[in-house]
Amino acid sequence: MSPVAAPPAESAAVRTVVHKFGGTSVADAERYRHVAQLLLAREEAIQVTVVSAMKGVTDALIELAKLAASGDEAWRERWHELRARHRAAAVSLLGEQVGGTIEWLDARFERLAEILAALAVIGELPQEVLDRVQGLGEVFSAQLLGRHLQVLGEDADVLDARDVLVVNHGELGVDVDWKASAATLALWRQSHPARRLVVTGFVARDRKGHITTLGRNGSDFSGAIFAALFAADELHIWTDVDGVLSADPRVVPEAVQLEALSYDEACELAYFGAKVVHPQTMSPAIERGLPIIIRNTFQPQHPGTRITAASGGRGPIKGLTLSPDLAVLNVEGTGLIGVPGTAERVFAALRNAHVSVVMISQGSSEHSICCVVRQAEAGRARDAVVQAFSHELAAGQVQRVQTTEGVSVLAAVGDGMAGQPGVAARLFEALGRAQVNILAIAQGSSERNISVVVDGKDATKALRAAHAGFWLSPQTFSVGVIGPGNVGAALLEQLRSAQPQLLARARLDLRLRAIASRSHMLLEARGVQGDWKAAFDAASQPLDLDAFADHLLSARLPHTLIIDCSGSAEVAERYAGWLAAGIHVVTPNKQAGSGPLARYRAIREAAAATGARFRYEATVGAGLPVITTLRDLVDTGDEVSAIAGIFSGTLAWLFNKYDGSVPFSQLVAQARAMGYTEPDPRDDLSGVDVARKLVILAREAGYESSLEDVAVESLVPEALRQASVEDFMARLHEVDAAFAQRLADARARGLVLRYVAQFAPGQAPSVGLVELPADHAFANLRLTDNVVQFTTRRYCDNPLVVQGPGAGPEVTAAGVFADVLRVAAGEGARL
Ligand code: ASP
Ligand code: MG
Repeated sequence: MSPVAAPPAESAAVRTVVHKFGGTSVADAERYRHVAQLLLAREEAIQVTVVSAMKGVTDALIELAKLAASGDEAWRERWHELRARHRAAAVSLLGEQVGGTIEWLDARFERLAEILAALAVIGELPQEVLDRVQGLGEVFSAQLLGRHLQVLGEDADVLDARDVLVVNHGELGVDVDWKASAATLALWRQSHPARRLVVTGFVARDRKGHITTLGRNGSDFSGAIFAALFAADELHIWTDVDGVLSADPRVVPEAVQLEALSYDEACELAYFGAKVVHPQTMSPAIERGLPIIIRNTFQPQHPGTRITAASGGRGPIKGLTLSPDLAVLNVEGTGLIGVPGTAERVFAALRNAHVSVVMISQGSSEHSICCVVRQAEAGRARDAVVQAFSHELAAGQVQRVQTTEGVSVLAAVGDGMAGQPGVAARLFEALGRAQVNILAIAQGSSERNISVVVDGKDATKALRAAHAGFWLSPQTFSVGVIGPGNVGAALLEQLRSAQPQLLARARLDLRLRAIASRSHMLLEARGVQGDWKAAFDAASQPLDLDAFADHLLSARLPHTLIIDCSGSAEVAERYAGWLAAGIHVVTPNKQAGSGPLARYRAIREAAAATGARFRYEATVGAGLPVITTLRDLVDTGDEVSAIAGIFSGTLAWLFNKYDGSVPFSQLVAQARAMGYTEPDPRDDLSGVDVARKLVILAREAGYESSLEDVAVESLVPEALRQASVEDFMARLHEVDAAFAQRLADARARGLVLRYVAQFAPGQAPSVGLVELPADHAFANLRLTDNVVQFTTRRYCDNPLVVQGPGAGPEVTAAGVFADVLRVAAGEGARL
């Protein structure tokens, strides 16, 4: 159990405090002891504690009465059990001094047995008798706590609310006879001046003097009533959570506790299902402006949530709630336009059918009226409205009365949004980005609540996305990585080490939930923590890309992202489908960007349709901002007239080095030994990889280019193309003489050799060895640098050049990571 200590803020200056503890807080002797300690640790001058029955006792009492009235003898056994439970608690709490209390309890249980026996005889259960019986739990409970405090030596008394509290059951519920109640209380107080009082919740008496209750869960109301009657300075409602949260933590684990709320905000949140006290029951406290503090019995040192007349805290939105199991009822008809009284008829029909309306929305065209009702009442609602408009339906003035079931209402609540533009936009943007469709919208002119109707299956995602959209929790991505090889492994490391900072500074949560290689995959529900490699190696599930994507989507996180670090065409084949499902794709894999045009178009179309992003900066120049630069040029209306450059670090190094002093084949062997080449150097020397990059850039520049269009000069002689890698390396010296000759020819003209890619609209794109002046930009690079030169309408005499290290797992992974962050920023992360 947590230590009990009153927070310092609550000084002796607070004179009278009313506390309310629910059934869970007094479930057994152990819990009563905890409550007593918590109360004794507090300083207030007058302490009034309102208690519920022990957990489950009210239900048990109702059950007893029903059994007895139905003639079921089983009530006797239940009665014994209930008495035993209370006796045991009394013994545990009061020890040697339990004697009088056992007698007290037994007398009441005897009286209860008499009532039950009488019910068995009359064979029915009058409301009056039920009221008498169901409130007994509070009577027992208050006695147990009050006696316990006395046994601990405290100046404590028990107040049975049935002796002072007078209420009246009216049409809008229970109302309190304040005058009568206050007068009786004052009288009672004269003979009971104790500093600590324990009061029964739930029960009262009516004007005729009959015992009654305040309705199920009425003890909160009791708390507020006694706070008013005692003119308390504060009302503390003790529950099992730290206060009011910004959202249901079962749906949004990142939900934050709210320090302060206004009464209005609390009412809105409560209405839409947040775990806050019910506004109606709090009205006695609210009318008197009493601060209500919601706090945790299990964490008494936590300050909880303070609800007062003034709003507090930052941000336009305090909290978000979700009401499930609703249905939209839509009445549509050309005959409704401009006809007064239509809305009234709809709502009158619903009222007559006893259907409660949760939300209303009507567009100003008046063509349709839409309201939200409980799913269980949807059929009844529809029938009622169909009947009410049967004449208009037959006459064709009303075309449709429709229900859409299985919807949820998401409500964003906060005083801070009144008069502040952009709040609704932020909500809709967050939902739009998470691909959540909105069925209907309502905002009251108090501007304290925006409600949207969404499909029930989107509800969780919608709540999470909106919560993150208001920065109440981080933007969360469900992330899967394919191909944990060189680049993939480097990326996973970078992701892992950047994670804490991204969370703290950018409120971005890139949650790694799946890793796949060619052979197998790891699917993690919560996200891979710590050593991804060990976890991945231990996984044994065979690769299944459908299951992989389904798993990523199944978390219902606001955003889903697949990072493909494989070089596989098969994986690239999936991109369009993933994008169509709203999954963002980031990749250094060149297959999609340079593969068949049909596939490329399908990818672009899917991305455009759903707004999911496809990014592949690292396919050209690794981490260098080549594609981003090109996109900026094109997006700002520039026209690209030529693209040229050295796109291969390997080929750059070879020709920067090649001066004739070392034969070409030996340079290749050296480059391979240093890891500058692919395991099979022909992959670099063939020029195909360079050609792929050229196609990607040409397409980005807006031209329909294909690999087949590129004239590729392969540096691998025909004869060596089929050989094994070893054979190839052994026989590569066969090319040395030819290269030496080309170099000599170039030099004779005062030129140097470089392997260059070139594209210009209207000309055949090419990659191959060219001769350049020794002072050309491409001839003066650092050994393995890449260079890309864009000639455009704006950059025509002096082309725009991007240059720098363009290979290696680290920089490539960083290029991929940068794309990931761009996607996140596009989804609203604060980067
Ligand atoms: N014991 C009553 C009930 O369960 C009142 C309350 O606990 O608020 O409804
Ligand atoms: Mg790049």
